Amino acid sequence: TSQFVQKSEKMAMLGQMSAGIAHEIRNPLTAIKGFIQLLKSDDDKNEYLEIVLSEIERINTIVGEFLFLAKPTADVFQKKNIKNIINDVVTFIKAQSNLYNTQIYTMMEDSIPMIFCEENRLKQVFLNLLQNSIEAMPNGGIIAITVKMIEGEQISIQIADQGMGIEEERLATLGEPFYTTKEKGTGLGLMTCYKIIEEGHRGHMSIESTVGKGTTVQIILPSLTQEMLGTSIHTKFAKE
Ligand code: ADP
Ligand code: MG
Repeated sequence: TSQFVQKSEKMAMLGQMSAGIAHEIRNPLTAIKGFIQLLKSDDDKNEYLEIVLSEIERINTIVGEFLFLAKPTADVFQKKNIKNIINDVVTFIKAQSNLYNTQIYTMMEDSIPMIFCEENRLKQVFLNLLQNSIEAMPNGGIIAITVKMIEGEQISIQIADQGMGIEEERLATLGEPFYTTKEKGTGLGLMTCYKIIEEGHRGHMSIESTVGKGTTVQIILPSLTQEMLGTSIHTKFAKE
């Protein structure tokens, strides 16, 4: 659809700009941070310096996400077990989810084939999505992750939470940069996920949500073969 084209054009443009700008911002930022830290150690009663440092940290996070988005072809596609990837991320995020009274359950079919993928990027996707789910449930709740085969050869991964949900009119625009409803949000998480799933892995990501009930993100990954990768995906990444 035209909406999709617009979205990916925006992403491509943003990707090109990101690398250059991000590097230019990082260097002075690191210097500023260092000097503020020096000032702070001379004057440990100054709470303004604390605020300045935390705002610098925030800029750093945003710039970091840009650099990640703009990172070119260095990643490698390898044959991996998606269930292991998801389990690793769940283990990693356990401490945080416990803190927020959130339980994560996984239901995974036995016969999920190995797929060619970029493990670290997929981990980033699941991390972003689980983080969003945890943040959507300030009073805790359950996150259910389902992994199953559909139509014989595609892998479906669903992440369902019982959080606050998303307004219907916002659903279509999710994934646009800088849309956030959070005080400390960057609004770059979902965009990164779309980019990794749809451009990087030729998959599909969709979001369903009901306000007050919860949100389900579905990712569909084709079981890519090495041959498909050799021709299409690498040329695609090389062009970026
Ligand atoms: P951020 O988390 O930094 O705000 P994201 O791109 O990850 O940026 O998400 C954008 C916005 O989409 C969030 O601010 C939130 O409003 C909404 N959102 C994403 N995931 C969920 C979810 N699971 N439940 C409710 N709202 C969500
Ligand atoms: Mg997020």
